[in-house]
Amino acid sequence: MRAELEAKLSCCRDLPSPPGVAMRILALARDPDVVMATAADTIGLDAALTARMLRIANSPLYASRRRVENLSQALTLLGLNATLTLALGFSLSSGMRTRHHDEPGEEKVWRRSVITALASRLLGEEIGQRRLEELMLAGLLQDIGVLGLLQLDRKTYAPLLASSPDNDTLLRREREHFGSDHAEVGHWMARHWNLPPLLQEAIGASESAEPCSPFDACVAVSGYLADLWLLEDTSAARLRAFDAAHRLLDMDPVTVDGIIEKMTGMLPDIATMFEVRITQPRRIAALLQEARELLVLRNLREIQDAARARKDADEFEHRAQRLAEEARRDPLTGVYNRTQLESVLEKEFETSSRHGWPLSIAFVDLDDFKKINDGWGHLVGDQVLRGFASTLQKHLRSSDIVARYGGEEFLIVLPGTDERAALGVMRRILTEVGQEPMTRVDGRPLHVTFSAGLATHGALEQFAHVDQLLQAADEALYGAKREGRNRVVAGLVEQ
Ligand code: GH3
Ligand code: MG
Ligand code: MG
Repeated sequence: MRAELEAKLSCCRDLPSPPGVAMRILALARDPDVVMATAADTIGLDAALTARMLRIANSPLYASRRRVENLSQALTLLGLNATLTLALGFSLSSGMRTRHHDEPGEEKVWRRSVITALASRLLGEEIGQRRLEELMLAGLLQDIGVLGLLQLDRKTYAPLLASSPDNDTLLRREREHFGSDHAEVGHWMARHWNLPPLLQEAIGASESAEPCSPFDACVAVSGYLADLWLLEDTSAARLRAFDAAHRLLDMDPVTVDGIIEKMTGMLPDIATMFEVRITQPRRIAALLQEARELLVLRNLREIQDAARARKDADEFEHRAQRLAEEARRDPLTGVYNRTQLESVLEKEFETSSRHGWPLSIAFVDLDDFKKINDGWGHLVGDQVLRGFASTLQKHLRSSDIVARYGGEEFLIVLPGTDERAALGVMRRILTEVGQEPMTRVDGRPLHVTFSAGLATHGALEQFAHVDQLLQAADEALYGAKREGRNRVVAGLVEQ
């Protein structure tokens, strides 16, 4: 600040100064030993102040289920520090009104202060600041510099204040005329009054376009929010508030709209408490409504996009599953292929070994299949293989596994089935297959028989490795062929 202006300010006798009660409250706030009773006594001396304290304690700012009836209840609800800070705000705002306070320029300053007080607090609440009362006070006092300049040079400053269409113009004109703006003057005054440093700094930074502490940023942004209530073009003011909130607080427009909405709800009450008249801007409800509709539309679009993405993902997953399933299956018969069989069999062998459950497997080979191919052609041979595979599946449990091992050779896995039971199952299937035609050629049924070799990993015989189990079954199959085909041979079961 220019030395000349500072000298003038120091000499100015009419400079607004805190009233006695505010000075006492300030002293209490600085005293670490102060107790609630002392605070209640000091505030209680001022009936109007007491009434305001009760009113704010019962306002939506401190939504309490119980009605606060007296100062000591207010102190309990708000806490000592909050009470003193709020009381300071009230006493300063009423005690500093000059005889000119009804003049348009000055009246506007008070209106603005009350709006920025609420806005600072709500912004702070949104970003998780803890010192909400201090924020409110800083918002309330951020324009004390305007009052200072008015008292210092009313003749020059009053017309300048009254004719400035907005805050930016006012700041520019102040700098032109006084070489300093009201934030700097306010900072000087706050220091002069010995206000807490937090408040001094916030007042000094209140017109800052630069990034500052979150506390100071709330106060700086609150001025832009106040413009919605003070300027003609509500819509343009709202956009400038979005911009400032984004720049200084990294806050998005939807959140800012939420704060504007809260302000519209709370301002009438706050305005009465601080004895200012604040009229709700006409366009504000429409603007907020419009924003809500846009938001609904955007949400709707996001929901649709998400649904589409989910559907794509589902389809992809489905296709991937189908491909994986196809990779497991033998294309001709649809039963498991050999690769899949090997992994499934290995798991079953491991489970059976771990739990001591029996596991039976049967190698199955069609008898004289070559003759079918030779006699009826390869395509009929294929039909027989398909028919045979589906007959096997039809007569087995869903927990049993059928796989095509290669050519006309299949492997059946029977988990949890011992030698005797497995032999029973395979013999039943042998009978069924003998009775059911595998396909028809020229309307005539074509029957086949098979030979099967059984092996069981269980009580009678333990295999060290799954390959040995397979080999045992293969040997049993060889035995079945040797013994004349169309039969089931099990290694260790007495026939
Ligand atoms: P055995 O009773 O000793 O098992 O005699 P077989 O004729 O069944 O056995 P062999 O191993 O001599 O012949 C199997 C035939 O199966 C030979 C082969 O051409 C045929 N084959 C293997 N895979 C397929 C296939 O996918 N489709 C058809 N149609 N035939 C196949
Ligand atoms: Mg064969
Ligand atoms: Mg064969």
